[in-house]
Amino acid sequence: MKVIEKIDEMKRLRLKLAESVGFVPTMGYLHQGHLSLVRRARSENQSVIVSIFVNPTQFGPREDFSSYPRDTECDLALLKKERVDVVFIPSADEMYPPQFDSWVVVDKLARRLEGACRPGHFWGVTTVCTKLFNIAQPARAYFGQKDAQQLVVIKKMVSDLNMNLEIVTLPTVREPDGLAISSRNIYLNPGERQAATVLYRALALALQLYAQGETDAERLRQKMIALLQKEPLAEIDYVSIANLRTLDELAKVTSPALVSLAVKIGKTRLIDNIML
Ligand code: AMP
Repeated sequence: MKVIEKIDEMKRLRLKLAESVGFVPTMGYLHQGHLSLVRRARSENQSVIVSIFVNPTQFGPREDFSSYPRDTECDLALLKKERVDVVFIPSADEMYPPQFDSWVVVDKLARRLEGACRPGHFWGVTTVCTKLFNIAQPARAYFGQKDAQQLVVIKKMVSDLNMNLEIVTLPTVREPDGLAISSRNIYLNPGERQAATVLYRALALALQLYAQGETDAERLRQKMIALLQKEPLAEIDYVSIANLRTLDELAKVTSPALVSLAVKIGKTRLIDNIML
């Protein structure tokens, strides 16, 4: 397994990799969710590139960029076990030299939900993904359903800008009690970790009510909000039931709908979603 820090070196090595190339972009502190993407990439491609880059441009000024968990040594050991060919692990300066001045912007879709709570977040995501796609030139890139809006935005960018790759989506990997696995779960103390199960319980409630015939989106939202409000450590950012393609809020649930939520548990902001 090669570990590459420089863009030029990565591009040179890319020319020598056997086609097809599968690519998994991550911010590191790898867990079973990331590894599910890596395993799928390994099974579908001759070569696998994984990037580890905590992308500063997708964090807001009051967000957790500097405290975001990092453990490169452990990440590299995990990726070696998965028989990854190349790990690309650039510095922030390498990706954004001082004169950097170009942005890739998906407009409307990126202003909803996470984009409304975290202004500029998706500018960072789409810009870094474009850079990484240009550097790795993959046939396929692998993303988790856990970040549902990110997927919608990236698929739109790839389609609108005629990018030459396929975006492959994998389901959210969860803890036994339903909590979506996330690098940020490490921030939770034991009480908060217990409280954090309320996100999945709220999503499961929507799924159950929908299965019983409830299609009024506002009633579903209100039931989810009521459940979340019973958890004293939870502070709701948003609860959304939206059209999966446009991310417009729905009045009546029509399939496929994206039920998504962002909730602070103490100081830790968690997101999760399911599809109806
Ligand atoms: P991150 O390192 O958080 O930027 O995530 C890198 C990739 O892993 C993204 O495509 C995420 O959607 C995906 N991912 C993160 N957590 C999970 C999970 N629990 N299940 C599946 N994919 C995940």
